[in-house]
Amino acid sequence: MEKKRVVVVGAGVSGLAACKHLLERGCQPTVFEADTALGGVFPDHRQVLAYLDAYARRFGVLGCIRFGHRVVGMEYHGVGEQEVDAWDEWAGNGQAFGSGAGEWWLSVANSDGHVETHKADFVILCIGRFSGVPNIPTFPVGKGPEEFDGQVIHSMDYAKMGPSKAKEMIKGKRVTVVGYLKSALGIAAECAEVNGTAHPCTMVVRTKHWILPDYFAWGYHISKLYLNRFSELLIHKPGEGFLLSLLGIQILLLQEPINRWAFSKFAESYYSIPMKKYDMVPGHSLFEALAACVIAITPKDHYKRLEEGSIALKKSKTFSFCKEGVVVEDEPSPIKSDIVIFGTGFKGDEKIKDMFTSEYFRSIVVGSTSTTVPLYRECIHPKIPQLAVIGYSESISNLFTSDIRAKWLVCFMDGGFRLPNVAAMQRDILEWDKYMKRYSGRYFRRSSIVILHNWYNDLLCRDMGCNPRRKKGFFVELFDVYGPGDYADLLPKKE
Ligand SMILES: Cc1cc2nc3c(=O)[nH]c(=O)nc-3n(C[C@H](O)[C@H](O)[C@H](O)COP(=O)(O)OP(=O)(O)OC[C@H]3O[C@@H](n4cnc5c(N)ncnc54)[C@H](O)[C@@H]3O)c2cc1C
Repeated sequence: MEKKRVVVVGAGVSGLAACKHLLERGCQPTVFEADTALGGVFPDHRQVLAYLDAYARRFGVLGCIRFGHRVVGMEYHGVGEQEVDAWDEWAGNGQAFGSGAGEWWLSVANSDGHVETHKADFVILCIGRFSGVPNIPTFPVGKGPEEFDGQVIHSMDYAKMGPSKAKEMIKGKRVTVVGYLKSALGIAAECAEVNGTAHPCTMVVRTKHWILPDYFAWGYHISKLYLNRFSELLIHKPGEGFLLSLLGIQILLLQEPINRWAFSKFAESYYSIPMKKYDMVPGHSLFEALAACVIAITPKDHYKRLEEGSIALKKSKTFSFCKEGVVVEDEPSPIKSDIVIFGTGFKGDEKIKDMFTSEYFRSIVVGSTSTTVPLYRECIHPKIPQLAVIGYSESISNLFTSDIRAKWLVCFMDGGFRLPNVAAMQRDILEWDKYMKRYSGRYFRRSSIVILHNWYNDLLCRDMGCNPRRKKGFFVELFDVYGPGDYADLLPKKE
């Protein structure tokens, strides 16, 4: 791989891991990072950022990054799209760099706006899902932000301001936050800290979510309920063999749904105690929320702030704007506001699509609204050659997942194993599609592997020719929770 031109787009957690593993195999990738610093969106906490900085320095990643360089478009050259579409083997021959005829041309804009072309034999997209393209609700004419006299921003812009400017902006202001997951909860907590009960922050909640003060239900760490191999026995795996589904270990262990229900109720009975007080218990189970990774750990003292009144909740399926603020259901007067902040998430699909100039790749890269994003091993699109995506599919700890996925990808790129043909990859993707729909319900497009992360990691290990059983002892293997440390000495076989 030494001579191959590999580009990594993005220097967040996923991009850093991809670059580190490429360097370890002698490849010298170029990393384009639109921002002027590494880290991506997640690590605003100084300790985490310091860790990533130390990681990038220690493994020589920093020297590969071109900060202030945004990839604004990519085109595949050398092989026509019709030919690519007709290939039975990925990239024509099932190998990372194909026959050598095709290459990616990336348009890269620097901070002065100057665009230059950069050619690559392989591109790894690590552009993140929770940044860049905000999801802003749409409104009927006359009911949108243009009617409002105050300021309207998205959580992304709030985060970009940095702590001191953000505090200055919200100080003494009536802030309304739309949403009830990570970003919204975090911003509401900051407002409550700055303004106390003098100017309560109002949260407009459309969907009730499982938000957890900590990971311990009745003193028992919930990872032991949901995230070990034993808990995975209770789940139907994508493409599980006939024998497994027939004998169904899960059937021997009573019934899969009954077990799951019991597991879910145990934790729910604990977490719902403070939620009940505010009529905030979700209609879906904690298990489903976890499967789809639609949970959040509450900022410290969230319930205390609700109690004291520095945060107020307004449940409403819809909302609109008026001159003075936000109009919600069943409220005779608007929520008077100076600032409205959307904690309404991001359009991760748009972001990936926008990387491609070709209509063909744009139309296939994220599938359709009725399918999951069609990535084999949550990484490789069967119809897009010499390219991989890291960081789209979610897990309980993306740092861990991105690292093992990057290891798997780089092992493949270095000839460690071959991909199945296009049709086999598509069949596999379809099985995962069914699995996501079964367990993540309406959130299936989040492509979460949370409750099956051991099974997923096992697949990656087997592909790499490594033993997936990383622990010693039957019971430890069955009941202990797997973490990054278990894979630290994973040495992929090189053919
Ligand atoms: C409020 C919040 C809380 C979260 N909490 C957690 C948590 O507790 N645990 C967890 O595991 N995850 C959490 N996440 C998810 C978090 O986004 C990911 O874990 C992590 O950031 C993924 O890293 P990444 O490298 O894949 O993407 P990102 O961190 O988004 O990094 C992508 C990088 O690519 C760059 N980039 C994008 N487009 C281009 C382009 N065209 N050209 C060049 N560079 C580009 C960006 O500037 C960015 O630096 C949270 C997210 C949010 C928003």
